[in-house]
Amino acid sequence: MNGFDGVVSSRRGFLGLAGGSAALLALGSAPAQAARVKTAARVVILGAGAAGTALANRLVTRLEGAEITLLDARKQHLYQPGFTLIAAGLKPAGYSVSATKDWLPQGVTLIEEAAAGIDPVAKTVTSTGGTVLGYDFLVVATGLKLDYDAIPGMSLDLIGSDGVGSVYAGPEHAAKTWEAMDKFTSEGGVGLFSRPATEMKCAGAPLKYTFLTDDYAVRKGTRDKVEIKYLAHNKAFFSVPIVSEKLRMLFGERRIQTAFDHVLIALDPGRRIATFQTPEGPKEEGYDFINVIPPMRAPDVVRASGLSWADKWTDQGWIEVDKGTLRHARFPEVFGLGDICGVPKGKTAASVKWMVPVVEDHLVAQIEGKEGTQVYNGYTSCPLITRIGKAMLVEFDYNDNLTPSFPGVIAPLEELWISWLMKEIALKPTYNAMLRGKA
Ligand SMILES: Cc1cc2nc3c(=O)[nH]c(=O)nc-3n(C[C@H](O)[C@H](O)[C@H](O)COP(=O)(O)OP(=O)(O)OC[C@H]3O[C@@H](n4cnc5c(N)ncnc54)[C@H](O)[C@@H]3O)c2cc1C
Repeated sequence: MNGFDGVVSSRRGFLGLAGGSAALLALGSAPAQAARVKTAARVVILGAGAAGTALANRLVTRLEGAEITLLDARKQHLYQPGFTLIAAGLKPAGYSVSATKDWLPQGVTLIEEAAAGIDPVAKTVTSTGGTVLGYDFLVVATGLKLDYDAIPGMSLDLIGSDGVGSVYAGPEHAAKTWEAMDKFTSEGGVGLFSRPATEMKCAGAPLKYTFLTDDYAVRKGTRDKVEIKYLAHNKAFFSVPIVSEKLRMLFGERRIQTAFDHVLIALDPGRRIATFQTPEGPKEEGYDFINVIPPMRAPDVVRASGLSWADKWTDQGWIEVDKGTLRHARFPEVFGLGDICGVPKGKTAASVKWMVPVVEDHLVAQIEGKEGTQVYNGYTSCPLITRIGKAMLVEFDYNDNLTPSFPGVIAPLEELWISWLMKEIALKPTYNAMLRGKA
């Protein structure tokens, strides 16, 4: 059995993060019980989000004597899949917030500063406080930057007022987005929903919020005075063709108007006008509510480090890793993990769950002078909420193959209550188990 088969079969045995449940907690792919590897290696991890925290927890159980240092200036850990529920008025802002340090094991040194410089040739990282850290292994897990500045007229201060929402900006902003969406679905008008043309985390989230807004208007009896428009950035609603087609049908049934090739490029909050780039040139759309989702890029420090792809995603700066091993193409002691990776799919926490054991495997094998065997197959998943109490559990890989965790039990393209429960109830405990390195 090669490494790829191993990953696939273990995935079938367990559940994807989005399909998480108690079974995952019991059976999940916790670090192997092999003898700990003795080493004095210096491992530096940039970012204590979903990916960095999960890896740190697993490495302390695999390595004995290693110096593991984690850098992150953010004292709060944010459970981002909760933002959609907060923005739908179903959870309070605090639902997504915990303390970063509470997730970290003994044996990991947390430096509460960001990386300000990365020199992969000298093998050093410089923190914002000026500390220079040498490393033997570097794991870049910085997540991504929400580039609100790329939309003239948009500012985080606007969120919650004058019909401006943004589910992505953080838990407090998600709560303010709920206030704006609640008002809109009570009073009526035009609601605009779109996604950026860059790669993005959780590409399902813009769609979920469109459906949730429709559902609220239906429940409030205001649907006839609410116009909902979903403006896709290219010629599809989703990267997987069969899912895109299902969405086309659902949008039609729900009277959600659609257009292709529309990318938000400017906002005039005073006039409540959004400008979209289209093949015919800039086009203005009036709104009473808009869910602004900005372009997403690698953080500046990563883009300046020389670790990004030189010939792909040049406006976005994702790092140049092998899509199977997540090892950097030019610096073998550097790995990418999570949203920062320049791979064709996988900007979800569900992907992180399957990426972490792969990086762990190759990093530990390299310390031992061996070859790692695990391969990331692009697994990602999206519990695509279609109304309160219903979701489609869409799971797929690099090749757009649907990869259901529960074949024959949960149909990926059906709107099911059980799939809703996965998102609303099971996902957070499963995510937390992943953070602890237990799943
Ligand atoms: C609205 C929304 C809904 C979502 N829904 C789902 C869902 O239903 N299912 C799902 O699986 N996923 C979902 N996701 C995606 C998921 O949250 C991310 O893919 C996941 O958090 C990625 O993990 P990460 O560690 O790469 O990045 P993050 O979790 O974002 O962590 C990155 C960390 O790096 C730190 N950092 C940044 N710059 C630096 C620096 N210079 N130095 C040091 N540290 C730095 C940050 O402070 C942060 O703590 C959703 C995301 C959003 C926003």
